[in-house]
Amino acid sequence: MRILQLHVDFIEYEPIKKEIPGAEEAEKGKVREEDTVVLFTAVEKGDDGEVAAKAVGELKAFLKNLGANRVMIYPFAHLSSDLARPADALPVLEAMEREAKNAGIETSRSPFGWNKAYQLKVKGHPLAEMSRSYSKGVKPAPEQQKPPHPRRELSEGELLARIKKSDFGTLPETDHRVIGERLDLFSFQEPSPGMVYWHDKGLTLRNLLVQFIMAELRRRGYIEVSSPALANMTLWRVSGHDEHYKENMFLTSLGEEELGLKPMNCPSIFLIYKSRRWSFRELPVRFADFDPVYRNELSGVATGLFRVKVLSQDDAHIFAPEEKAESELVGLLDLLDKMYSVFGLKYKVKISTRPDEHMGSVEEWERATKTLVKAVEAKGLAYEVKDKEGSFYAPKIDVDIKDSLGREWQCGTIQLDLQMPKRFKLAYTGSDGKEHVPVVIHRTIYGSLERFIGIILEHYKGALPVWVSPVQACVIPLSDEHLVYSQEVLSELRAAGVRAEGYFESGTMGSKIRNAQLQKIPYMLVVGKKEEDSKTVSVRTRAGEQEQGVRLESFIGRVASDVAANR
Ligand SMILES: [Zn+2]
Repeated sequence: MRILQLHVDFIEYEPIKKEIPGAEEAEKGKVREEDTVVLFTAVEKGDDGEVAAKAVGELKAFLKNLGANRVMIYPFAHLSSDLARPADALPVLEAMEREAKNAGIETSRSPFGWNKAYQLKVKGHPLAEMSRSYSKGVKPAPEQQKPPHPRRELSEGELLARIKKSDFGTLPETDHRVIGERLDLFSFQEPSPGMVYWHDKGLTLRNLLVQFIMAELRRRGYIEVSSPALANMTLWRVSGHDEHYKENMFLTSLGEEELGLKPMNCPSIFLIYKSRRWSFRELPVRFADFDPVYRNELSGVATGLFRVKVLSQDDAHIFAPEEKAESELVGLLDLLDKMYSVFGLKYKVKISTRPDEHMGSVEEWERATKTLVKAVEAKGLAYEVKDKEGSFYAPKIDVDIKDSLGREWQCGTIQLDLQMPKRFKLAYTGSDGKEHVPVVIHRTIYGSLERFIGIILEHYKGALPVWVSPVQACVIPLSDEHLVYSQEVLSELRAAGVRAEGYFESGTMGSKIRNAQLQKIPYMLVVGKKEEDSKTVSVRTRAGEQEQGVRLESFIGRVASDVAANR
């Protein structure tokens, strides 16, 4: 194994094209990490887990000297003329990643087998550039082996001191992580890497998005369900996840039994579908759910909400006779357009076709792909074809949204699945009285709620529209004399369903207004003697417009009309 090790201010890469058939799945778009040690790594013939462990052992000591604790493993073939076969190299890189994580190093790995565009900035201190090489074999002589340090149990205080909240201090103001911190929406904390801690206001925003789409789904005849996070491997074997997706699953056990945290909801939803009989008269039946799913994919602090290990989708599974699939798909494209246009988001449609590793016959895949194409064309949408990028059980329509930096992120997806229904022996009774197999459409509109929130935070630069603002109004008393009336105003706003806060702490009115502006609160209600005498409020918008002597009912009506119009 050869490693070129660079301590950098930043590295930014973007997977462009798969270089080899065995390339890993990678999400498009740029990935940027700051203040990290990049390990350009070439895996050579004969390298294995032992070599990976050796490399990580030395790395650990080096990082300690450097006072750094973050690395990016970057597969890089150009360091050796004696490379391992790709199929052998990937497990070694994975072992290296695992070893480093187990050693408590914050570790990411860039995808294997891709042509990537990248740039980086090397720090330039004496230890910033190093190259190393490792091979299997000769164990150090006994006298060189040091006895292991006696382990001392750390106290709770020492352990607690290790639990750090992520710090986004050096990122630009427009980054959703900075916005999220300033608006107190969420945080990332050391014990749960790549997972989100939702604070009150972030959770409010997330719930509002769920309620909004669920109301639309109810109008379209959906029902809502929920299923357990854990299921034993029997279920994942039937679904094929054991064979095709296990490396991305979090596994645990219950006695003798191996269980997996669900990376997808579908298999559990199939069990709910199968718990009763269905007639053709009842189909299509549409199951919505918002359960979290757990995917051990490349993620990390570096991409914030854009790529997390625990995510919630606005997921749905639609069971329909195959002849109704096309009209159902058209309806979904319509729903998608409606949802995205509420946020003013532009999107692109792509059709992903049969991958090399797939279930079912080529004929079925072609039939399903053709139906997707027909639906997209019926809606008059332009589309690109992403060859071999379908999931292992179905071709799909992917919907990409551009973020504020012009990066494209896959959000919505619509898959037409002819395989899982057969594997799970799903059925409905047709008009001929016989049993038939339905098709399943898996679909999500927002995609991951986490990613969608990241995108809209950047899209609106934190100034969310009134209808999704976690705090729609704040009440600012001119002085402590007006506290009682301010409290009354706040209570009335809350009673009317306005999400409001009182800025009742000590401090000048000017500083409170500045604070509210930093928090991007749409309406500031200033209350002084004049307002108290006339039972009104002064309304100041975050854009700086002011209106005095506004009756509270009239202000409440204004917020209600903003909400009704998704403003
Ligand atoms: Zn599904």
